[in-house]
Amino acid sequence: MKYDWVIVGAGLTGATLAERLASQRGARVLVVERRRHLAGNAYDHPNPEGLLVHRYGPHIFHTQSREVFDYLSRFTAWRPYVHRVLAEIQGRRVPLPFNLNTLHALYPRRLAERVEEKLVARFGHGARVPILKLKTADDPELAELAAFVYQNVFLGYTRKQWGLAPEELDPAVTGRVPVVVARDDRYFADPYQALPAEGYTRMVERMLAHPRIHLLLGADFKEIEGELRFDRLIYTGPIDAFFDYLHGPLPYRSLRFVWATHRTPAVQPVAVINYPNEHPFTRTTEYKHLTGQESPFTAISYEYPEAHEPGRNEPYYPIPREENRLRYRAYQKEAQKLKHVFFAGRLADYRYYNMDQAVARALKLFRELP
Ligand code: FAD
Ligand code: UDP
Repeated sequence: MKYDWVIVGAGLTGATLAERLASQRGARVLVVERRRHLAGNAYDHPNPEGLLVHRYGPHIFHTQSREVFDYLSRFTAWRPYVHRVLAEIQGRRVPLPFNLNTLHALYPRRLAERVEEKLVARFGHGARVPILKLKTADDPELAELAAFVYQNVFLGYTRKQWGLAPEELDPAVTGRVPVVVARDDRYFADPYQALPAEGYTRMVERMLAHPRIHLLLGADFKEIEGELRFDRLIYTGPIDAFFDYLHGPLPYRSLRFVWATHRTPAVQPVAVINYPNEHPFTRTTEYKHLTGQESPFTAISYEYPEAHEPGRNEPYYPIPREENRLRYRAYQKEAQKLKHVFFAGRLADYRYYNMDQAVARALKLFRELP
């Protein structure tokens, strides 16, 4: 059969584009996915004890975009959920992002009060200050606070997660978890925060359940390309792989997940605990807190960061820094030469997108497609 569009990748980017093309343009679409399941890295599934877990790490939906939230709401109901994270610092579990509650938990009272006043005077109440910006503060007590937060929250975690120090990455990376000048413990400040009531996989199944969308799972596009007949292509996999690493491989960071199930209702008080300093893993996730499931069992995952090696592990994170952006631009130039191929998604754009940004990017590309 001949298709109007082939879409490589059944993650949120591919699913959004397939859904739009089939439903709004009457296009015949084939989605080719290397893995044997839908939803890309947002994939969730019941484990042997029936607990819904996220195979590729905790995925918490949050967005400022009404458009994205309304769009996805066509395919799922939502479970309200506000993400709160604890970090183990100096043997204590304290709220993260580092906020005024964290300050008061870790500092002696008088000092905490003085530093709070200075933070409010310098940045304003409610400000969200990236650590690399706080580090430039002149005031000795603010500089002291910045050094403390840098050392205890960011340095060890970032070295583990990326194999790099915070300064070796785009400031936006550590800026994702700013110092919050308020007693606000939420990990995300976005107005829309929720999890799909029946999970991400179910949501993506509904997006793709259209008679003009065909699915080919467990198939690598590179291996079957010659057998497919289609007019146009959307590619959401790694852009360097598409061009057979013509300009050298783009670096990605990978993770190794270790899973444990315990016969006890809960092992930690919140969904995610970060370990900036101790242990070789960065964080543990107990999925029940995300799903609200009740069970005598509980499932948790440990995340061990590692370098990405194509074929051995998954390219989970593009590594945002200048030298990688330059290499990406060389691939982008190749991409612009191809008039019938379009690139979008976390791997094809080589951008550290959250799920809502991947959907927003796909909706934007849809509006621009010929
Ligand atoms: P992907 O989900 O990566 O989908 C691309 C798909 O293309 C993959 O399924 C891949 O198998 C397929 N593919 C690649 N090459 C080929 C090929 N040659 N042939 C066929 N198929 C191919 N976002 C949030 O908003 N909140 C979170 O809490 C959050 N947590 C995260 C935690 C982790 C550990 C990770 C790694 C990411 C997290 N994200 C989170 C980001 C989120 O996963 C992404 O924004 C989103 O999944 C991107 O969707 P995508 O479709 O662009 O890419
Ligand atoms: N980060 C950190 N310590 C923490 C949490 C985050 O140093 O306890 C830094 C680290 O560099 C991390 C980045 O902030 O990679 C972004 O954190 P986020 O929780 O957004 O990462 P993700 O959920 O995307 O893995």
